[in-house]
Amino acid sequence: MAVNYADFRDIAIEDYDAVVVGSGFAGAVSARQLAEEGGLRVLVIEKRAHIAGNMYDEYDEAGVLVHRYGPHIFHTNDQRAYDYLARFTEWSSYQHRVLADWYGTYMPVPFNKNSMEIAFGDEKAARLIEKLVDTFGDERKVTINELRAQEDPELQEVADFVYQNVFLYYTQKQWGLTPEEVDPSVTARVPVFISRDNRYFQDAFQGMPIDGYTRLFENLLGHEKITVCLGTEAESVFDLVFAGREEDAPLEAIHIKGASFEGPIVYTGPLDELFLGRFGRLPYRSLDFVYETFDETYHLPCGTVNYTVTEDYTRITEFKWLTEQTGDKTTIMREYSRAYEDPATQIPYYAIINDDNDALYARYRRLTDALPNFHPLGRLAEYRYFNMDKVVADALAASEKILTETADA
Ligand code: FAD
Ligand code: UDP
Repeated sequence: MAVNYADFRDIAIEDYDAVVVGSGFAGAVSARQLAEEGGLRVLVIEKRAHIAGNMYDEYDEAGVLVHRYGPHIFHTNDQRAYDYLARFTEWSSYQHRVLADWYGTYMPVPFNKNSMEIAFGDEKAARLIEKLVDTFGDERKVTINELRAQEDPELQEVADFVYQNVFLYYTQKQWGLTPEEVDPSVTARVPVFISRDNRYFQDAFQGMPIDGYTRLFENLLGHEKITVCLGTEAESVFDLVFAGREEDAPLEAIHIKGASFEGPIVYTGPLDELFLGRFGRLPYRSLDFVYETFDETYHLPCGTVNYTVTEDYTRITEFKWLTEQTGDKTTIMREYSRAYEDPATQIPYYAIINDDNDALYARYRRLTDALPNFHPLGRLAEYRYFNMDKVVADALAASEKILTETADA
Protein backbone atom coordinates (compact mmCIF):
# COMPACT_ATOMS: atom_id res chain seq x y z
CA MET A 1 0.00 0.00 0.00
CA ALA A 2 1.21 3.53 -0.83
CA VAL A 3 1.99 5.97 1.96
CA ASN A 4 -0.98 8.11 2.90
CA TYR A 5 0.33 11.70 2.85
CA ALA A 6 -1.69 14.69 4.10
CA ASP A 7 -1.20 18.39 4.79
CA PHE A 8 -1.08 19.04 8.54
CA ARG A 9 -3.49 21.98 8.09
CA ASP A 10 -6.15 19.54 6.85
CA ILE A 11 -5.77 17.15 9.76
CA ALA A 12 -8.46 16.81 12.42
CA ILE A 13 -6.44 15.71 15.42
CA GLU A 14 -9.41 13.91 17.00
CA ASP A 15 -9.15 11.41 14.12
CA TYR A 16 -5.87 10.09 15.61
CA ASP A 17 -5.00 7.91 18.58
CA ALA A 18 -1.22 8.36 18.48
CA VAL A 19 1.28 10.92 17.19
CA VAL A 20 4.80 10.03 16.04
CA VAL A 21 7.39 12.74 15.43
CA GLY A 22 9.97 11.72 12.82
CA SER A 23 9.99 9.07 10.11
CA GLY A 24 13.40 7.42 10.56
CA PHE A 25 13.54 3.88 11.93
CA ALA A 26 12.51 4.97 15.44
CA GLY A 27 9.40 6.74 14.15
CA ALA A 28 8.46 4.49 11.24
CA VAL A 29 8.73 1.20 13.14
CA SER A 30 6.77 2.66 16.08
CA ALA A 31 4.08 4.00 13.77
CA ARG A 32 3.75 0.66 12.00
CA GLN A 33 3.52 -1.30 15.24
CA LEU A 34 1.04 1.03 16.90
CA ALA A 35 -1.14 0.87 13.77
CA GLU A 36 -0.79 -2.81 12.97
CA GLU A 37 -0.58 -4.41 16.40
CA GLY A 38 -2.68 -1.93 18.34
CA GLY A 39 -5.11 -0.81 15.65
CA LEU A 40 -4.30 2.81 16.56
CA ARG A 41 -4.78 5.59 14.01
CA VAL A 42 -1.32 7.12 13.82
CA LEU A 43 -0.30 10.58 12.68
CA VAL A 44 3.38 10.88 11.69
CA ILE A 45 4.80 14.38 11.48
CA GLU A 46 8.13 14.80 9.74
CA LYS A 47 9.94 18.09 9.29
CA ARG A 48 11.81 17.09 6.14
CA ALA A 49 10.22 16.92 2.70
CA HIS A 50 10.56 13.12 2.67
CA ILE A 51 10.27 10.05 4.87
CA ALA A 52 13.08 7.65 5.95
CA GLY A 53 15.17 9.93 8.21
CA ASN A 54 18.89 9.57 7.71
CA MET A 55 18.40 6.35 5.76
CA TYR A 56 16.83 8.27 2.85
CA ASP A 57 18.23 7.31 -0.56
CA GLU A 58 17.39 8.55 -4.05
CA TYR A 59 18.64 8.36 -7.64
CA ASP A 60 20.95 11.21 -8.62
CA GLU A 61 21.17 12.81 -12.08
CA ALA A 62 23.46 10.03 -13.31
CA GLY A 63 20.90 7.44 -12.23
CA VAL A 64 23.03 6.22 -9.32
CA LEU A 65 21.23 5.38 -6.08
CA VAL A 66 22.88 7.57 -3.41
CA HIS A 67 22.37 8.11 0.30
CA ARG A 68 21.59 11.73 1.20
CA TYR A 69 22.65 11.61 4.84
CA GLY A 70 25.71 9.37 5.00
CA PRO A 71 26.41 5.80 3.90
CA HIS A 72 24.15 3.26 5.62
CA ILE A 73 24.94 -0.45 5.75
CA PHE A 74 22.58 -2.66 7.71
CA HIS A 75 24.28 -5.15 10.04
CA THR A 76 23.01 -6.93 13.11
CA ASN A 77 23.16 -9.96 15.35
CA ASP A 78 19.57 -9.30 16.41
CA GLN A 79 17.45 -11.90 14.66
CA ARG A 80 14.22 -10.17 15.66
CA ALA A 81 15.18 -6.80 14.13
CA TYR A 82 16.39 -8.51 10.98
CA ASP A 83 13.26 -10.67 10.60
CA TYR A 84 11.04 -7.70 11.26
CA LEU A 85 12.60 -5.58 8.49
CA ALA A 86 12.64 -8.57 6.14
CA ARG A 87 8.86 -8.14 5.99
CA PHE A 88 9.40 -4.81 4.23
CA THR A 89 12.40 -5.51 2.01
CA GLU A 90 14.50 -8.21 0.50
CA TRP A 91 18.13 -7.97 1.55
CA SER A 92 21.24 -8.25 -0.59
CA SER A 93 24.16 -10.11 0.94
CA TYR A 94 26.55 -7.14 0.60
CA GLN A 95 29.48 -7.30 3.05
CA HIS A 96 31.04 -3.90 3.72
CA ARG A 97 34.80 -3.49 3.28
CA VAL A 98 36.80 -0.40 4.20
CA LEU A 99 40.39 0.45 3.30
CA ALA A 100 42.48 3.11 4.97
CA ASP A 101 44.41 5.30 2.56
CA TRP A 102 47.81 5.32 4.26
CA TYR A 103 49.86 7.84 2.28
CA GLY A 104 48.60 6.28 -0.97
CA THR A 105 48.82 2.64 0.18
CA TYR A 106 45.59 0.86 1.04
CA MET A 107 45.24 -1.25 4.16
CA PRO A 108 42.16 -2.90 5.65
CA VAL A 109 40.22 -1.27 8.49
CA PRO A 110 39.61 -2.57 11.12
CA PHE A 111 43.38 -2.96 11.34
CA ASN A 112 43.98 -6.72 11.08
CA LYS A 113 46.63 -9.31 10.23
CA ASN A 114 46.60 -8.26 6.58
CA SER A 115 47.02 -4.59 7.55
CA MET A 116 49.87 -5.63 9.82
CA GLU A 117 51.77 -7.13 6.88
CA ILE A 118 51.28 -3.96 4.85
CA ALA A 119 52.45 -1.80 7.75
CA PHE A 120 55.39 -3.85 9.06
CA GLY A 121 56.37 -6.23 6.23
CA ASP A 122 55.68 -9.97 6.29
CA GLU A 123 58.52 -11.07 8.54
CA LYS A 124 58.04 -8.59 11.35
CA ALA A 125 54.26 -8.85 11.04
CA ALA A 126 54.48 -12.62 11.59
CA ARG A 127 56.26 -12.04 14.91
CA LEU A 128 53.85 -9.32 16.01
CA ILE A 129 50.82 -11.37 15.02
CA GLU A 130 52.13 -14.28 17.08
CA LYS A 131 52.48 -12.01 20.07
CA LEU A 132 48.99 -10.60 19.61
CA VAL A 133 47.54 -14.09 19.33
CA ASP A 134 49.44 -15.24 22.44
CA THR A 135 48.25 -12.21 24.40
CA PHE A 136 44.62 -11.90 23.29
CA GLY A 137 43.80 -15.08 21.36
CA ASP A 138 43.23 -15.63 17.66
CA GLU A 139 40.20 -14.07 15.91
CA ARG A 140 39.79 -11.68 18.83
CA LYS A 141 38.92 -7.97 18.74
CA VAL A 142 40.93 -5.59 20.89
CA THR A 143 40.12 -1.93 21.31
CA ILE A 144 42.85 0.61 20.66
CA ASN A 145 42.68 1.62 24.33
CA GLU A 146 43.25 -1.98 25.49
CA LEU A 147 46.16 -2.32 23.10
CA ARG A 148 47.71 0.94 24.23
CA ALA A 149 47.54 -0.24 27.84
CA GLN A 150 49.90 -3.18 27.14
CA GLU A 151 53.40 -2.95 28.55
CA ASP A 152 55.18 -5.29 26.15
CA PRO A 153 57.36 -3.12 23.85
CA GLU A 154 56.33 -4.96 20.68
CA LEU A 155 52.64 -4.62 21.48
CA GLN A 156 53.30 -0.97 22.28
CA GLU A 157 54.81 -0.59 18.84
CA VAL A 158 51.68 -2.02 17.21
CA ALA A 159 49.48 0.16 19.41
CA ASP A 160 51.47 3.28 18.55
CA PHE A 161 51.31 2.51 14.86
CA VAL A 162 47.56 1.95 14.87
CA TYR A 163 46.95 4.95 17.10
CA GLN A 164 49.05 7.27 14.91
CA ASN A 165 48.02 5.94 11.51
CA VAL A 166 44.42 4.82 11.93
CA PHE A 167 42.86 6.68 14.83
CA LEU A 168 44.51 9.98 15.62
CA TYR A 169 43.92 12.16 12.57
CA TYR A 170 40.63 10.54 11.57
CA THR A 171 39.23 11.08 15.08
CA GLN A 172 40.50 14.66 15.16
CA LYS A 173 38.72 15.34 11.88
CA GLN A 174 35.55 13.52 12.88
CA TRP A 175 35.15 14.88 16.40
CA GLY A 176 37.51 17.84 16.70
CA LEU A 177 38.97 15.80 19.60
CA THR A 178 41.81 13.33 20.14
CA PRO A 179 41.02 9.62 20.67
CA GLU A 180 41.72 10.14 24.40
CA GLU A 181 39.08 12.87 24.54
CA VAL A 182 36.23 10.92 22.91
CA ASP A 183 34.18 8.43 24.90
CA PRO A 184 35.96 5.01 24.79
CA SER A 185 32.84 3.43 23.27
CA VAL A 186 33.41 5.52 20.11
CA THR A 187 36.82 4.15 19.11
CA ALA A 188 35.79 0.71 20.43
CA ARG A 189 33.40 0.54 17.45
CA VAL A 190 36.43 -0.10 15.24
CA PRO A 191 38.74 -2.45 17.16
CA VAL A 192 41.99 -4.07 16.05
CA PHE A 193 40.93 -7.46 14.72
CA ILE A 194 43.37 -10.36 15.08
CA SER A 195 42.10 -12.00 11.93
CA ARG A 196 42.37 -12.21 8.14
CA ASP A 197 38.71 -11.17 7.83
CA ASN A 198 38.72 -7.89 5.90
CA ARG A 199 35.06 -7.07 6.46
CA TYR A 200 34.14 -3.93 8.43
CA PHE A 201 31.42 -5.78 10.37
CA GLN A 202 31.24 -9.40 11.45
CA ASP A 203 27.55 -9.50 12.36
CA ALA A 204 25.51 -12.59 11.50
CA PHE A 205 23.20 -10.55 9.24
CA GLN A 206 24.53 -7.93 6.89
CA GLY A 207 23.24 -6.43 3.69
CA MET A 208 21.41 -3.68 1.91
CA PRO A 209 17.71 -3.35 1.07
CA ILE A 210 17.46 -4.57 -2.51
CA ASP A 211 15.26 -1.66 -3.70
CA GLY A 212 16.84 0.89 -1.37
CA TYR A 213 15.96 2.29 2.04
CA THR A 214 13.35 4.77 0.85
CA ARG A 215 11.32 1.92 -0.63
CA LEU A 216 11.68 -0.03 2.62
CA PHE A 217 10.25 2.98 4.49
CA GLU A 218 7.41 3.35 1.99
CA ASN A 219 6.52 -0.26 2.76
CA LEU A 220 6.80 0.35 6.51
CA LEU A 221 4.66 3.47 6.51
CA GLY A 222 2.21 2.33 3.83
CA HIS A 223 -0.62 1.27 6.14
CA GLU A 224 -4.28 2.25 6.16
CA LYS A 225 -4.09 3.57 9.73
CA ILE A 226 -0.98 5.72 9.19
CA THR A 227 -1.03 9.29 7.86
CA VAL A 228 2.21 11.16 7.19
CA CYS A 229 2.54 14.96 7.21
CA LEU A 230 5.82 16.08 5.66
CA GLY A 231 7.35 19.52 6.16
CA THR A 232 5.86 19.68 9.65
CA GLU A 233 8.00 20.50 12.66
CA ALA A 234 6.96 19.36 16.13
CA GLU A 235 7.93 22.69 17.73
CA SER A 236 5.53 24.58 15.49
CA VAL A 237 2.51 22.31 16.01
CA PHE A 238 2.93 21.34 19.67
CA ASP A 239 1.86 23.73 22.44
CA LEU A 240 3.82 22.67 25.49
CA VAL A 241 2.08 23.12 28.84
CA PHE A 242 4.34 23.20 31.91
CA ALA A 243 3.53 22.63 35.57
CA GLY A 244 4.90 26.01 36.64
CA ARG A 245 6.86 29.00 35.34
CA GLU A 246 10.34 28.05 36.50
CA GLU A 247 12.83 26.78 33.90
CA ASP A 248 12.84 23.23 35.27
CA ALA A 249 9.06 22.94 35.63
CA PRO A 250 8.08 19.61 34.06
CA LEU A 251 5.93 19.18 31.01
CA GLU A 252 2.31 18.62 32.01
CA ALA A 253 0.56 18.26 28.66
CA ILE A 254 1.03 18.69 24.95
CA HIS A 255 -1.71 20.49 23.08
CA ILE A 256 -2.12 19.90 19.37
CA LYS A 257 -4.56 22.05 17.40
CA GLY A 258 -5.88 23.59 20.59
CA ALA A 259 -6.61 20.44 22.61
CA SER A 260 -4.59 18.32 25.00
CA PHE A 261 -3.46 15.20 23.13
CA GLU A 262 -3.88 12.29 25.51
CA GLY A 263 -2.78 9.40 23.28
CA PRO A 264 0.83 8.20 22.99
CA ILE A 265 3.32 10.67 21.49
CA VAL A 266 6.53 9.07 20.22
CA TYR A 267 9.14 11.78 19.78
CA THR A 268 12.28 10.96 17.76
CA GLY A 269 13.80 14.43 17.23
CA PRO A 270 16.41 16.15 19.44
CA LEU A 271 14.95 16.84 22.89
CA ASP A 272 16.67 20.23 23.27
CA GLU A 273 15.03 21.35 20.02
CA LEU A 274 11.56 20.59 21.37
CA PHE A 275 12.30 22.82 24.36
CA LEU A 276 13.87 25.51 22.17
CA GLY A 277 17.25 25.02 23.83
CA ARG A 278 16.15 26.49 27.17
CA PHE A 279 19.11 24.98 29.07
CA GLY A 280 21.56 25.50 26.21
CA ARG A 281 21.97 23.40 23.07
CA LEU A 282 23.01 19.76 23.25
CA PRO A 283 26.34 19.44 21.40
CA TYR A 284 26.44 17.38 18.20
CA ARG A 285 28.75 16.87 15.25
CA SER A 286 27.33 17.60 11.85
CA LEU A 287 28.52 16.59 8.38
CA ASP A 288 28.77 18.09 4.92
CA PHE A 289 28.56 15.71 1.98
CA VAL A 290 30.17 16.43 -1.38
CA TYR A 291 29.17 14.23 -4.32
CA GLU A 292 31.06 13.63 -7.53
CA THR A 293 30.07 11.53 -10.54
CA PHE A 294 32.55 9.88 -12.88
CA ASP A 295 32.21 8.26 -16.30
CA GLU A 296 33.71 5.09 -14.88
CA THR A 297 32.25 1.80 -13.77
CA TYR A 298 34.05 2.01 -10.43
CA HIS A 299 36.23 4.73 -8.90
CA LEU A 300 37.38 3.11 -5.62
CA PRO A 301 38.65 -0.38 -4.78
CA CYS A 302 35.87 -0.97 -2.21
CA GLY A 303 32.76 0.60 -0.65
CA THR A 304 34.54 3.10 1.58
CA VAL A 305 38.05 4.51 1.83
CA ASN A 306 38.96 6.16 5.15
CA TYR A 307 41.54 8.96 5.00
CA THR A 308 43.32 8.29 8.24
CA VAL A 309 46.51 10.33 7.73
CA THR A 310 45.81 12.88 4.98
CA GLU A 311 42.99 15.05 3.50
CA ASP A 312 40.46 17.19 5.32
CA TYR A 313 37.52 14.87 4.63
CA THR A 314 37.19 11.70 6.71
CA ARG A 315 36.06 9.16 4.14
CA ILE A 316 34.81 8.58 0.61
CA THR A 317 32.02 6.15 -0.16
CA GLU A 318 31.20 4.77 -3.59
CA PHE A 319 27.56 3.77 -3.54
CA LYS A 320 27.65 1.21 -6.34
CA TRP A 321 29.71 -1.10 -4.14
CA LEU A 322 26.98 -0.95 -1.49
CA THR A 323 23.97 -1.17 -3.75
CA GLU A 324 25.52 -3.51 -6.33
CA GLN A 325 24.01 -1.29 -9.02
CA THR A 326 25.45 -1.72 -12.53
CA GLY A 327 26.03 0.99 -15.16
CA ASP A 328 28.91 2.93 -16.70
CA LYS A 329 28.73 5.94 -14.35
CA THR A 330 29.52 6.04 -10.67
CA THR A 331 28.98 8.53 -7.84
CA ILE A 332 31.17 8.98 -4.80
CA MET A 333 30.61 11.05 -1.67
CA ARG A 334 33.20 12.77 0.52
CA GLU A 335 32.30 13.38 4.17
CA TYR A 336 33.46 16.50 5.99
CA SER A 337 32.79 16.61 9.71
CA ARG A 338 31.74 19.96 11.22
CA ALA A 339 30.78 21.50 14.53
CA TYR A 340 26.99 21.69 14.82
CA GLU A 341 26.25 25.37 15.22
CA ASP A 342 23.10 26.23 13.32
CA PRO A 343 19.95 24.09 13.63
CA ALA A 344 18.41 26.06 10.76
CA THR A 345 20.95 24.89 8.19
CA GLN A 346 22.71 21.88 9.72
CA ILE A 347 21.69 18.40 10.78
CA PRO A 348 22.72 16.96 14.17
CA TYR A 349 24.28 13.62 13.16
CA TYR A 350 26.38 12.49 16.12
CA ALA A 351 25.71 13.07 19.81
CA ILE A 352 28.98 13.92 21.56
CA ILE A 353 28.95 11.53 24.48
CA ASN A 354 30.59 12.78 27.68
CA ASP A 355 29.55 13.38 31.30
CA ASP A 356 28.66 17.07 30.87
CA ASN A 357 26.56 16.44 27.78
CA ASP A 358 24.85 13.45 29.39
CA ALA A 359 23.98 15.66 32.39
CA LEU A 360 22.55 18.35 30.10
CA TYR A 361 20.54 15.71 28.27
CA ALA A 362 19.25 14.31 31.59
CA ARG A 363 18.02 17.78 32.51
CA TYR A 364 15.94 17.94 29.31
CA ARG A 365 14.78 14.39 29.83
CA ARG A 366 13.51 15.20 33.33
CA LEU A 367 11.16 17.77 31.80
CA THR A 368 9.34 14.93 30.06
CA ASP A 369 9.36 12.33 32.86
CA ALA A 370 6.07 13.41 34.38
CA LEU A 371 4.17 13.15 31.10
CA PRO A 372 3.33 9.46 30.79
CA ASN A 373 2.12 9.62 27.18
CA PHE A 374 5.40 11.16 25.92
CA HIS A 375 8.02 8.66 24.67
CA PRO A 376 11.46 9.92 23.54
CA LEU A 377 12.97 7.30 21.22
CA GLY A 378 15.93 6.89 18.85
CA ARG A 379 19.37 8.26 18.23
CA LEU A 380 18.39 11.94 18.57
CA ALA A 381 15.74 11.85 21.30
CA GLU A 382 17.89 9.57 23.48
CA TYR A 383 21.13 11.40 22.62
CA ARG A 384 22.98 8.17 21.86
CA TYR A 385 25.27 6.69 19.19
CA PHE A 386 22.88 3.97 18.04
CA ASN A 387 23.13 1.87 14.89
CA MET A 388 20.00 1.18 12.88
CA ASP A 389 19.41 -2.30 14.29
CA LYS A 390 19.38 -1.03 17.87
CA VAL A 391 16.88 1.67 16.96
CA VAL A 392 14.62 -0.87 15.26
CA ALA A 393 14.82 -3.21 18.28
CA ASP A 394 14.11 -0.35 20.69
CA ALA A 395 11.16 0.84 18.63
CA LEU A 396 9.67 -2.66 18.66
CA ALA A 397 10.10 -2.86 22.44
CA ALA A 398 8.77 0.66 23.03
CA SER A 399 5.66 0.17 20.91
CA GLU A 400 4.91 -3.10 22.69
CA LYS A 401 5.16 -1.29 26.03
CA ILE A 402 3.01 1.61 24.82
CA LEU A 403 0.32 -0.79 23.60
CA THR A 404 0.31 -2.66 26.90
CA GLU A 405 -0.03 0.63 28.80
CA THR A 406 -2.76 1.84 26.44
CA ALA A 407 -4.69 -1.42 26.92
CA ASP A 408 -4.37 -1.14 30.73
CA ALA A 409 -5.55 2.48 30.81
P1 FAD B 1 16.78 9.64 12.23
O1 FAD B 1 17.04 8.71 11.09
O2 FAD B 1 17.65 10.83 12.38
O3 FAD B 1 15.27 10.11 12.10
C1 FAD B 1 14.76 11.19 12.85
C2 FAD B 1 13.69 11.85 12.00
O4 FAD B 1 13.00 12.80 12.79
C3 FAD B 1 14.28 12.60 10.81
O5 FAD B 1 13.57 12.28 9.64
C4 FAD B 1 14.08 14.06 11.20
O6 FAD B 1 13.88 14.93 10.08
C5 FAD B 1 12.84 13.99 12.04
N1 FAD B 1 12.74 15.08 13.02
C6 FAD B 1 13.71 15.49 13.86
N2 FAD B 1 13.27 16.50 14.63
C7 FAD B 1 11.99 16.75 14.26
C8 FAD B 1 11.01 17.66 14.68
N3 FAD B 1 11.28 18.55 15.65
N4 FAD B 1 9.80 17.66 14.08
C9 FAD B 1 9.53 16.76 13.08
N5 FAD B 1 10.44 15.85 12.64
C10 FAD B 1 11.64 15.84 13.23
N6 FAD B 1 23.70 2.82 11.35
C11 FAD B 1 23.93 1.54 10.91
O7 FAD B 1 23.35 0.59 11.47
N7 FAD B 1 24.76 1.32 9.84
C12 FAD B 1 25.38 2.31 9.18
O8 FAD B 1 26.12 2.07 8.21
C13 FAD B 1 25.19 3.65 9.63
N8 FAD B 1 25.80 4.68 9.01
C14 FAD B 1 25.61 5.94 9.48
C15 FAD B 1 26.29 6.99 8.84
C16 FAD B 1 26.12 8.28 9.30
C17 FAD B 1 26.86 9.40 8.63
C18 FAD B 1 25.29 8.55 10.41
C19 FAD B 1 25.13 9.95 10.92
C20 FAD B 1 24.61 7.53 11.04
C21 FAD B 1 24.77 6.21 10.58
N9 FAD B 1 24.08 5.14 11.17
C22 FAD B 1 24.31 3.85 10.74
C23 FAD B 1 23.14 5.36 12.28
C24 FAD B 1 21.70 5.55 11.76
O9 FAD B 1 21.66 6.70 10.92
C25 FAD B 1 20.77 5.73 12.95
O10 FAD B 1 20.81 4.58 13.77
C26 FAD B 1 19.34 5.98 12.53
O11 FAD B 1 19.24 7.09 11.69
C27 FAD B 1 18.49 6.24 13.74
O12 FAD B 1 17.15 6.42 13.36
P2 FAD B 1 16.25 7.48 14.12
O13 FAD B 1 14.87 7.26 13.65
O14 FAD B 1 16.54 7.44 15.57
O15 FAD B 1 16.82 8.89 13.63
N1 UDP C 1 37.87 5.65 13.60
C1 UDP C 1 39.14 6.07 13.27
N2 UDP C 1 39.69 5.67 12.09
C2 UDP C 1 39.02 4.86 11.21
C3 UDP C 1 37.73 4.43 11.56
C4 UDP C 1 37.18 4.85 12.76
O1 UDP C 1 39.75 6.83 14.02
O2 UDP C 1 39.57 4.54 10.15
C5 UDP C 1 37.30 6.08 14.90
C6 UDP C 1 36.72 7.49 14.80
O3 UDP C 1 36.84 8.12 16.05
C7 UDP C 1 35.26 7.19 14.48
C8 UDP C 1 35.01 5.97 15.36
O4 UDP C 1 36.24 5.22 15.28
O5 UDP C 1 34.41 8.27 14.82
C9 UDP C 1 33.85 5.10 14.96
O6 UDP C 1 33.98 4.73 13.59
P1 UDP C 1 32.73 4.25 12.72
O7 UDP C 1 33.25 3.82 11.40
O8 UDP C 1 31.93 3.30 13.53
O9 UDP C 1 31.93 5.63 12.57
P2 UDP C 1 30.55 5.96 11.83
O10 UDP C 1 30.42 5.02 10.66
O11 UDP C 1 29.48 5.78 12.85
O12 UDP C 1 30.75 7.37 11.43
